[in-house]
Amino acid sequence: MTKISEKALWFKELSGDKPLVIAGPCSAETPDQVLEIAHAIKNKATIYRAGIWKPRTRPGGFEGVGAIGLKWLQQVKNDTGMLLATEVATAEHVDLALAHDIDLLWIGARTTVNPFAVQEIADALKGTDKMVFIKNPVNPDLSLWIGGFERLQNAGIKKLGFIHRGFSSYEKIKYRNKPEWQIPIDLQIRFPEIPLINDPSHITGNRDLIQQVAQKALDLNFDGLMIETHCTPDSAWSDAAQQVTPIQLDTILSELVLRDISNHEDSYLHEMQRYRTRIDDIDTQILKLLKDRMQIADEIGLLKKAKNVSVLQPERWQEVLIKMKREGKENKLGEAFITSLFKAIHDESITRQDHIINRK
Ligand code: PEP
Ligand code: MN
Repeated sequence: MTKISEKALWFKELSGDKPLVIAGPCSAETPDQVLEIAHAIKNKATIYRAGIWKPRTRPGGFEGVGAIGLKWLQQVKNDTGMLLATEVATAEHVDLALAHDIDLLWIGARTTVNPFAVQEIADALKGTDKMVFIKNPVNPDLSLWIGGFERLQNAGIKKLGFIHRGFSSYEKIKYRNKPEWQIPIDLQIRFPEIPLINDPSHITGNRDLIQQVAQKALDLNFDGLMIETHCTPDSAWSDAAQQVTPIQLDTILSELVLRDISNHEDSYLHEMQRYRTRIDDIDTQILKLLKDRMQIADEIGLLKKAKNVSVLQPERWQEVLIKMKREGKENKLGEAFITSLFKAIHDESITRQDHIINRK
């Protein structure tokens, strides 16, 4: 977390040199529920989150208590001194949140996908100095995420942040939303001074997996965590499976290992240099092997052209993939990694062969 030195001053003042913790229920349900959670986590989190208006994927679910819940949140601030955060999706939400002294407004994943909605929010926020955090859009599209940020920046909002909550996918995976870590990493490289918060609750959808995702986020230099917390998670009105109790929140936070972004001791630097030289050598060999492999694929392309055979040979490709997955397993290489690696290689081979076959 030493990268914190690069962060905007307002954020450093807010979080100090530790990850910023935002916690609280998925949804505000009743005044008692909101206050009970707040008292239980007031020493663990800096910012109290609760959804007041809930965007539900399908109709029929609990859609939030609405503006009345903002009064309950104000009570939290009075009683505990915590800062308040809620999701806004329309100009009306923004006006109500501003009228109730909400400190941080976040734009949800289903709203970030819609430039009209983000623009409406940005216009309603003009002239305020609120913190505004943009969740990634539901689809893995970095420009859309950055576009949301730029609309707020153009409206003069200074205290901006990003929240990574993972991306929808049609295939069944162990997480509710696929992390696609490379996307927030690319974002961080482009905007090193903008705080980047991880939301392991919405990534995992499962409270048992939150610890490991939160740790991974910190290992990737994220600046904070948003963790849904509820005193009786199993009976929560939304997102029951992913919410943790205040005690579980405490355990998660206390087990997190904070690492330095670098180390300046000579022995560390030398050892690192040795490893990196070996990695660089291996990368060069991989490239050479890929070049050889592509040359053979080109030869096959010429043969297919001479015999008028189609480029894609589905059975052969299936055989290659099955064999590589098996060998990958024997070599302790993850199946998802092997699949995407060989899909990329195969894709390049058939693109080249298609080019050869259609060359006049
Ligand atoms: C939430 O934070 O409760 C929420 C609805 O999040 P997301 O926009 O990430 O789905
Ligand atoms: Mn939720």
